[in-house]
Amino acid sequence: MATVHVELVSVERPLWSGEATIVLARTTEGELGIMAGHTPLLGELAPGALVRIREDGGEELIVAAHGGFLSVTDKGVSVLAELAEFAEDIDVPRAEAALERARSGDEEDRQAKTAELRALTRLRAAGQPV
Ligand code: ATP
Repeated sequence: MATVHVELVSVERPLWSGEATIVLARTTEGELGIMAGHTPLLGELAPGALVRIREDGGEELIVAAHGGFLSVTDKGVSVLAELAEFAEDIDVPRAEAALERARSGDEEDRQAKTAELRALTRLRAAGQPV
């Protein structure tokens, strides 16, 4: 099956690169499924978006991406996230504690909302029912 080259980079560090059969992501314009030969585009990742990278062998990498952009060129797909974690690296109790703190009303409102969204995105990526 044809594959598309994927580069996943966060502001902190390069996270992953490799070949995928499809990349699924939600941008502010809607849900995207990118395969080899997709038309070039630039999109903004939707708040709380999960990015799913399906590898050639069938394994799926699930990434909690907290803001950023996705571009498709003839060279492949680049996901440039402000901050991102792989599902398997997510510390679920930490995200649950962060969610509880964000919802407890101790923090300033807007900050609490973004902290809540980060925690929810992490828990969703880790497959937790939230
Ligand atoms: P917390 O209050 O638990 O620190 P936070 O949302 O304020 O959560 P961030 O400032 O978004 O944390 O992230 C700080 C660093 O910690 C980043 O490198 C981020 O990837 C990592 N991180 C935050 N929460 C988790 C988690 N639950 N599991 C794994 N890594 C996390």
